[in-house]
Amino acid sequence: MEVYLDHNASTPVDPEVITLMQSYFSHWYANPNSPHLFAAEVEEKISQTSNFLVEFLEAGDGDIIYTSGATEAINMVLKGYRYEDRKEIITFQTEHKAVLNTCQYLESQGFIIKYLPVMKNGAIDLDLYQNSLSEHTLLVCAMYANNETGVLHPIESMIPMSKSVGAYFCCDITSSIGKIPMQIKGVDFLTFSAHKYYGPKGIGGVFLRKGLELSPLIHGGSQQNGRRSGTLPVPLIMGMGKAFLLSQILRKEEEKRIKSLRDYLESEILSLPDVYCHGSDTKRIYTTSNICFKGVSSEELILRLKKISVSNGSACSSLVSKPSHVLTAMGVCDTEALSSIRISLGRHNTEEEINFTIDQIKKAVRKIRA
Ligand code: PLP
Repeated sequence: MEVYLDHNASTPVDPEVITLMQSYFSHWYANPNSPHLFAAEVEEKISQTSNFLVEFLEAGDGDIIYTSGATEAINMVLKGYRYEDRKEIITFQTEHKAVLNTCQYLESQGFIIKYLPVMKNGAIDLDLYQNSLSEHTLLVCAMYANNETGVLHPIESMIPMSKSVGAYFCCDITSSIGKIPMQIKGVDFLTFSAHKYYGPKGIGGVFLRKGLELSPLIHGGSQQNGRRSGTLPVPLIMGMGKAFLLSQILRKEEEKRIKSLRDYLESEILSLPDVYCHGSDTKRIYTTSNICFKGVSSEELILRLKKISVSNGSACSSLVSKPSHVLTAMGVCDTEALSSIRISLGRHNTEEEINFTIDQIKKAVRKIRA
């Protein structure tokens, strides 16, 4: 049996999304920036999708800038925002590398970055966060849900704290968009991708609160009001819109079903000796479990699981056998970080698949330990 449990790395594109995209490849193929009526019709579809996305996000009034994905969106916000003479950015040691490595680059450009530690369960220490904010803070960048552990951050409390010192707030919602309702009213920037939620790869965006601007990363034909040049990938944009539209219909039922599968899987696996779950005593998104099997190499476990696809660390860095920066930031030692796997469930997983996975993991762990 093949079981896909790596939805935090990417998801299959929903068949309804594919059907819609096909019509934009073969029928509505005009360049929306051309001067004729056909182009204007396509342009209208894009504009309806942008309006839908702004409403869907429930973050307030603003615009969408389409990008190639969350990595570009994060780069755009972090590199493109300038405000008076503030030079300090606050972020967290458990953020995605798209944030951490962009911040590292910004340090070489004279920015001061505070990489705040998190608590042992991965949660944010709100007192430490509040005390770190000052009149020097330009921007705070924090994710809504951690992609490796699923730990949720109290973004609704963090936004007003940043406002009280006049700092701006960017939330990376790549791991939570479509999956849960988010409390992000008043946020200045949001960054996301479509492919983590049954949309196509290669498309994502920035939500920009009304009145704010970002200097472009990419210059060219002045598409998207000069904010991000390049011919709009119409099928990808329409596919992303459709994926999030489907979330409005499916989310509630999906959350209940996937959560019960995830909780069942966790309770069964945790019945093995010397096994624990990272972040289990704090709020987590219902799709994700990150489990440490003491004395078991995660690489060997993944190999033994063969056609059960799970991962260790985030997909971009998991080819390199290094302990996850998220787990080490939570105080997990290198050996236990290298004994941990991430299991991320999705729309199509069944009880039968989860039972098979539990059985195979138990067998593999016992064999490796024997
Ligand atoms: N942010 C988070 C939380 C992610 O999980 C990812 C991808 O794993 C990214 C950003 C980068 O997304 P993309 O690879 O689509 O650019």
